[in-house]
Amino acid sequence: MKEFDIIVAGAGPAGLYAAYTASLNDLSVLVLEKDEEIGKPILCAEGVSNRTLELFFDKFPQEIIRNSFSKLIVKYNDSISYTDIPDMGVILNRELFDKYIALLAVNSGVIIKTNEPVINGNRENNKMIIETNANKYIASIFIAADGVESKCARYFGINTTTELNDIYSCCEYILTHDSISEKEIIFDYSPKFARYGYTWVFPRGGNEANIGLGVIPSKSKKKAKDILNEYIELNYKNANILEKKAGAVPVNPLRKPYSDNLLIVGDAGKYVDPITGGGIDNALRTGRLAALTAIRAIRMNDLSEKAMKYYTDLIKRDNLFSLKMQLKLKIIMENMKERELDEMFKSILSMLNNKEILSNEFYESINGLQGLFERIKQFGLLMKGIASKRTMIRILLKLLWV
Ligand SMILES: Cc1cc2nc3c(=O)[nH]c(=O)nc-3n(C[C@H](O)[C@H](O)[C@H](O)COP(=O)(O)OP(=O)(O)OC[C@H]3O[C@@H](n4cnc5c(N)ncnc54)[C@H](O)[C@@H]3O)c2cc1C
Repeated sequence: MKEFDIIVAGAGPAGLYAAYTASLNDLSVLVLEKDEEIGKPILCAEGVSNRTLELFFDKFPQEIIRNSFSKLIVKYNDSISYTDIPDMGVILNRELFDKYIALLAVNSGVIIKTNEPVINGNRENNKMIIETNANKYIASIFIAADGVESKCARYFGINTTTELNDIYSCCEYILTHDSISEKEIIFDYSPKFARYGYTWVFPRGGNEANIGLGVIPSKSKKKAKDILNEYIELNYKNANILEKKAGAVPVNPLRKPYSDNLLIVGDAGKYVDPITGGGIDNALRTGRLAALTAIRAIRMNDLSEKAMKYYTDLIKRDNLFSLKMQLKLKIIMENMKERELDEMFKSILSMLNNKEILSNEFYESINGLQGLFERIKQFGLLMKGIASKRTMIRILLKLLWV
């Protein structure tokens, strides 16, 4: 059996970035991927902030970017806001993006094997025995990066079941329509379509867009696909639909995404933002933090659960803290009456309208929120996710950097 310092299951952004980071630090790393090709199939609207790309990549290749947007449109029933966001983000080509991280990883020494799903695992004598459809391998540390349908951590006794309220069922169409502008990114929170979720229009260049929505299946009376069809019929009549896809987004991070010799990253750890559905940034982030934990553990020759807990310590220090806050907001918004939602969105939209928001200002105000959040927590206002609606509206407004 071939032995590695680290074996990663899953060649998405989380697993590949973990592998790349560990390999840069001279660890031997094997990545095992279920599918035949990296970056295929992809289920993603491909939106990401420029800041994420700056944080994780030197000289990010421009050919991986499909389109740059510069205007944010937020809709809620008949209310609408227009905000200039000239340097905020881009729409990626995810297939090329995943392949690019794979290339960085391979160039730094990582071995990637595709068409080789992990099908079982055992812990023996402080080592991980990883079984695929073709081989058995040994590693000091195993990183489960196998996405939303993650099973790999279960081979080692971790319960990764997602509660029904903690998953968005998503449907997305790639289409062309004359009314689509390549500069406008749209979030639509109108409850008649996505009462427990959101609708997005992400421009891919020209008049092509990825239009999709996510709903909580246990709360929504209709299926995501049926609501999306109604949305498109009403807003993009006679659109030319090029592709239809469906998938899921898990939104409540695992309480303990580690155990002896094991770390869980990205969607497998359920690190997706419940308000925007964004998971690429968190996948890269958790991938990097898991690799740093593994590097430290191997250097200290301590692969115990206690050493692995360093991963969640790093997560707490990182701005992943905002996920926790977004989750509380999700719960509060779900429990709001429609009249309260109306009031809240109308005030948010009127504050966003006709503003210009620059990326650095946005992230400065987000960072400033950590202090605010800590103070509120201290006073017990967010105990069990229940605060006065007025307080939550104030927090939400702050969150939206206005
Ligand atoms: C419809 C939709 C739209 C989205 N839009 C956006 C967006 O616009 N912006 C954004 O930031 N996020 C978006 N997301 C979320 C984002 O796609 C994910 O958060 C991100 O892909 C997570 O990366 P990951 O590496 O954790 O998992 P994945 O990218 O899912 O990678 C997991 C990999 O593991 C492999 N695998 C699975 N099982 C095994 C196994 N047993 N052995 C080996 N390999 C295995 C899979 O084949 C896959 O390659 C969207 C999600 C959906 C569903």
